[in-house]
Amino acid sequence: MNIHEYQAKELLAKFGVAVPAGYPALSVEQAIAAAGKLPGPLYVVKAQIHAGGRGKGKFKELGPDAKGGVRLSKTLNEVRANASDMLGNILVTVQTGEAGKQVNRLYITDGADIAKEYYLSMLVDRATGRIAMIVSTEGGMDIEEVAHSTPEKIQTIVIDPAEGFQPHHGRAVAYALKLSGDTNKQAQKVAAQLYQAFVATDMAMLEINPLIETTAGDIQVLDAKVSFDSNALFRHPDIAALRDESEEDSAEVEASKYDLAYIKLDGDIGCMVNGAGLAMATMDIINLNGMFPANFLDVGGGASKEKVTAAFKIILADPGVKGILVNIFGGIMKCDTIAEGVVAAAREVNQQVPLVVRLEGTNVDQGKAILAGSGLAIVPADDLGDAAQKIVAEVQKVA
Ligand code: ADP
Ligand code: MG
Repeated sequence: MNIHEYQAKELLAKFGVAVPAGYPALSVEQAIAAAGKLPGPLYVVKAQIHAGGRGKGKFKELGPDAKGGVRLSKTLNEVRANASDMLGNILVTVQTGEAGKQVNRLYITDGADIAKEYYLSMLVDRATGRIAMIVSTEGGMDIEEVAHSTPEKIQTIVIDPAEGFQPHHGRAVAYALKLSGDTNKQAQKVAAQLYQAFVATDMAMLEINPLIETTAGDIQVLDAKVSFDSNALFRHPDIAALRDESEEDSAEVEASKYDLAYIKLDGDIGCMVNGAGLAMATMDIINLNGMFPANFLDVGGGASKEKVTAAFKIILADPGVKGILVNIFGGIMKCDTIAEGVVAAAREVNQQVPLVVRLEGTNVDQGKAILAGSGLAIVPADDLGDAAQKIVAEVQKVA
């Protein structure tokens, strides 16, 4: 689960991390009121979307010469102009894809006097089973380019979770950033605070870009991107409450309500499968037969009729779906339950696209009988290969 920059900064501040003052705003009036609470003389109006690259982003509606999603503003009038430019408009960045994201929220924050921009991120490194802290002296909006052309300017410090963050880790971070004196000490401290925040809240990823040194020699976090391990959210209700569903794919939000593992993809064949392994095999075999899956969907082991119906509706709500392949191995979940769910859902949504169903396992004969007796245009299949060939043939027949 991702959160907004302003939420991430409020969270990090609780761990002692130095961030510039700021307030979120949902309207131009709120933006001006927020700026009024800041000391000035420089205010920054920042678009809050779940994507980076905002500074270099472009607003779809504003033409190529307009500024991006992070704007320095010297007066309250400039805050007003920048806020009204951004709110409600679509921001396209390297991370949003071409469709962009609508800006519904702003963050109005203190302008910092930047002497230098650094980079610091953390993630769980699965290869080493440790937490990696990745730092660079070349922070700011071109970090991707730095990683590409001068990878030696990016250094990784790994921390064994059993040992925890030790003073030598902090020294390694500050040394990699080539800092000295008090600024060096501050960098050690912020690295330790970020580590504590990362572990205490079960983050999966934390990216501070830029981490800055101000002209006064202070270390501050100027941008923060955080994502949490969704499997650990149950123990952080305060963090779960920060979720902004309007930033997520609506079908994926709907699927999560029914505890369905659904990921939207770009192909033509909707898939409803139980078990992640079988779901992947189903996607592969569709591919092998020359078409692409429209989604990954694992209905889980003990799906009910209601869950199957919900899954069916989510698949069909995708206008890209030209055919559906249901591939269920009945174990705990019985084939007749699946068949009832499929028939009920197909009737309810007035399903028009070709539908191939492959059932195997517990109560398979009852399941097949329910499908055959439904009077619906359901094509039965005997095995995985047969099912994939049939759905591809059916879709091509229609096209
Ligand atoms: P993004 O990474 O989405 O482009 P950032 O928050 O990193 O957004 O902002 C982009 C750039 O804007 C930063 O690298 C920094 O130079 C500048 N910037 C961001 N926040 C401030 C601020 N509070 N004061 C001064 N400059 C800022
Ligand atoms: Mg940034």
